[in-house]
Amino acid sequence: MTTVSLGMPRLPGAGVPDVRLPADRPATGGLVDRFGRVATDLRVSLTDRCNLRCTYCMPAEGLPTLPKDSVMTREEIARLVGIATRDLGVRQVRFTGGEPLLRRDLVEIVRDCAALPARPELSLTTNAVGLDSRAAALREAGLDRVNVSLDTLDPDTFATMARRPFLARTLAGIDAAAQQFDLVKINAVLVRGVNLDHAAELLGWCLERGFELRFIEQMPLDADHAWDRAAMVTAAEVREQLGTRFALEPDEEPRDGAPAERFVVRDGRGERLGRVGIIASVTEPFCDDCRRTRLTAEGGVRDCLFAHTETDLLGPLRAGADDSVLADLWRAAMWAKQAGHGMSDTGAGTDLDSSGFTQPERTMSAIGG
Ligand code: SAM
Repeated sequence: MTTVSLGMPRLPGAGVPDVRLPADRPATGGLVDRFGRVATDLRVSLTDRCNLRCTYCMPAEGLPTLPKDSVMTREEIARLVGIATRDLGVRQVRFTGGEPLLRRDLVEIVRDCAALPARPELSLTTNAVGLDSRAAALREAGLDRVNVSLDTLDPDTFATMARRPFLARTLAGIDAAAQQFDLVKINAVLVRGVNLDHAAELLGWCLERGFELRFIEQMPLDADHAWDRAAMVTAAEVREQLGTRFALEPDEEPRDGAPAERFVVRDGRGERLGRVGIIASVTEPFCDDCRRTRLTAEGGVRDCLFAHTETDLLGPLRAGADDSVLADLWRAAMWAKQAGHGMSDTGAGTDLDSSGFTQPERTMSAIGG
């Protein structure tokens, strides 16, 4: 290692970008940050393209898509996931997007990652449109789990929220996933005046089928910048809505870094029906237990959904950087992670950076949700 001006070390060799890495970053081991958190859970965005236009995520007309050659190839994904699992302690890998099913080589990407020496747990977040014809192949390739996004069971409301009339196709995808995978999780976002009063029905439907439903508070990651804290449906309101039909009690099982706070669901006679989760990223942030690291479709490391900076790994990889350089860049990126996402207006809970929050330029679809 050579030392350059300002006392900041820089690694020699091909593909090394002209960036100054923080001198105090860990040189070996996992993805640790200055607050002692360790990232073991990697989200990999496979594409920024999507076949839905959910109002809380994308504009009606869509977004300009990335040029094809700026998106990670199958081989580049396997190489970076390989470094993450072998050298950086990553244990879980979730493929997301955009819509990951739009990648024609999705089955091959899963197969490559399942064949890595330090095989991670592999999961997929999808809207399930087209999953019916690929669920078996994905299972066979080594996919372990599937999370499907479904906000309502009403076809008209689905078409309003997703701006596409695809409810039947999503339900067909969910059926196929249920046949192939032991556990199917459903993710739902509630929007006031649109599907808030569908929450209990959706939970009943999931419980009957053995699916675990998780409600996600709407985050300021929409392209239209229409997010409004006052209008957002809070975790407390979700619990209230569900309480109209079910009794919820806090789950005794340790949360263990999971973003969702889980509840045991019982019917009016006290019979246990299953579980439900609520991800309260805005009102009850869990930043001090965050274990996430993210790769965008362009191979940029993001240390937080709400980060304003990314560390490019794909450029150095294509310029010939070796694995140790890429691992060092990744460690340095995570070392810089902030204490909190900065959205809490109260400073309560774990959100230590509540002094100010600015919405990131990228939308959820472009970051990888
Ligand atoms: N297309 C895939 C899907 O629909 O699951 C994966 C990508 S999508 C961006 C991942 C998740 O992010 C979905 O469950 C979606 O509902 C959620 N999401 C998108 N925008 C959001 C927002 N502004 N706030 C909260 N969740 C959001």
